[in-house]
Amino acid sequence: MTKTREEKLFESAVDKWGIPSQVALLLEELAELQAAAARLVFRGRGTLQAVALELADVQIMTGQLEVILKRLGLEERELQGIRALRLDHLEGLLKEGGKDPHD
Ligand SMILES: [Mg+2]
Repeated sequence: MTKTREEKLFESAVDKWGIPSQVALLLEELAELQAAAARLVFRGRGTLQAVALELADVQIMTGQLEVILKRLGLEERELQGIRALRLDHLEGLLKEGGKDPHD
């Protein structure tokens, strides 16, 4: 399968900076997204663009986390299978109607 530009970039980043550094950066970016979303939603400050920027950072880092998980031994089909299960779970919650998604 041909690798996409994103996949090549994510692999290059993990090659260049290593797993511990990229996991630490993921955590940092998650915190930045949390802060930007909280500022916008709970305080009515910040901007949609600021949240979108932090979302892009997190998506880039979660893409690198997929590379890392595969390098540590997780198969692509298992990764996709787990994602499909979680989407099925969400679909089930929506069909049940109104159950708290955090349960
Ligand atoms: Mg950021």
